[in-house]
Amino acid sequence: KYGRTYNFSAGPAMMPEEVLEEIAAEMMNYRGSGMCVMEMSHRSKVFQQIRDEAEADLRTLMGIPDNYKVLFVQGGGTVQFAMVPMNLMKNGVACYVETGNWSKKAIKEAQKYGEVKIVASSADKNFSYIPDCSDLDIPDNADYVYICENETINGTTYFKLPDTKGKVLVSDQSSMFLSRPCDVSKYGLIWAGVQKNVGPAGMAVVIVREDLLRDDLPKFVPTYMSYKTHADNDSLYNTPNCWAIYCCGKVFKYLLKNGGLEAMNKRNEEKAAILYDFLDQSKFFTGAVRKEDRSLMNVPFVTPSKEQDADVVAASKAAGFDNLKGHKSVGGLRASIYNAMPKEGVEALVEFLKKYEAEHT
Ligand code: PMP
Repeated sequence: KYGRTYNFSAGPAMMPEEVLEEIAAEMMNYRGSGMCVMEMSHRSKVFQQIRDEAEADLRTLMGIPDNYKVLFVQGGGTVQFAMVPMNLMKNGVACYVETGNWSKKAIKEAQKYGEVKIVASSADKNFSYIPDCSDLDIPDNADYVYICENETINGTTYFKLPDTKGKVLVSDQSSMFLSRPCDVSKYGLIWAGVQKNVGPAGMAVVIVREDLLRDDLPKFVPTYMSYKTHADNDSLYNTPNCWAIYCCGKVFKYLLKNGGLEAMNKRNEEKAAILYDFLDQSKFFTGAVRKEDRSLMNVPFVTPSKEQDADVVAASKAAGFDNLKGHKSVGGLRASIYNAMPKEGVEALVEFLKKYEAEHT
C-alpha cells in the first residue's frame, strides 16, 4: 500500500512495516509528550522509560542472564572492532577465526593493540565455508577467541560454536542478531551492529559479562571506548543515539509479540529453504557456500558469467526488487533475507529467478 519494494539489502535493511507505521504515528507527538523522540532530552523521564524498556525487552527476548550488561554504543560495527581488543586484551594475545571480510577487518584492527593468532581460516576456498573449530590451538595466555558468527558478504554461519578451551568467546552477531535463539551464557561478549535485523545504522548493541569490565585499561583508551563507561552509566554517559534506541526497542517489542526468537528461527528457516531449494535444482544459478554452513540471512549466488550476473541484477531491479548485487569483493548476486523480509518477498524473488532461467537457457 505504500509502493515499497522488496529490498534485499545487506544493511541498512528492511524493517517490519508495522513498526514503521507505529514510528510514523508517534513522529509528531510521542505519547502526549508534545515532541518527537528525536527532539527529546536523553535525561528526560520519558526517554529513560524508552531506554529501560528497550533493555528489558531485549533481556526477555534473548534470556540474557543477570550477570551480563546490555550496552547501546554509537559508531556501529566498526567501532566494536577496536573496542573489543582495547577492553579485552589484558595479556595482549587474542585468537581470531578468519571467515571473510568482516573477520579480516576485526583482525586488522586488533593487530593494533596486541598479538593476533589466526587459529582457523577458510581463506583457501574463498571463505565459502566455516572451518573446523573443534580442536583449535589456543595459547594459554589468550585473552579471548573471536568469531564473526555470520559473514554478511560470504553468506556463511556457524551452526556450532567453537571449542574455545575455556577461553572467553567473543562474537560479532551483526548480520544474524535476533534471527534465532541464542544461549548468551556461552559467550563472554556478543556485539551486533543493529542496521540489519533491528534498526537504523550507527549503533551497536553489546552484551558483555560483568567480570570482563575493567577499571585498569591502558591510558590511551578513550573514555568513550571503555565498556565500563557505558555499563556504569546505563549507556547514558553522553548523549546516546536516542532515535536508534527507540527504533530498536520497537523491534524488540514486535519480536516478542510475534513469538520471539524460536518463531523467528522457524520463519527464517522456511524462507531460506525456499531460496536454497531453488538454487540447488537450478542449472543456471549456483549457491556460493558449502551446504552445512549456509547462512539463513545472506544468500550469495552466481550465474555462469559476470556479464550474466550483471544482467540478472539489472532485470531484477526493473522487476521491482532492490539491492541484489553481490558485494564488490565477491561479485555475483546476494539476497539478504533478514527477519523483516516477508516470505512473499522470497517467493516473488524465486519466481523471478525461475522465469529468468527459463528465458535465458
Ligand atoms: N560486522 C558485520 C558482520 C557486518 O556485516 C558489518 C557491516 N556490514 C560490520 C561488522 C560493520 O558495521 P558498520 O558498517 O556498522 O561499521
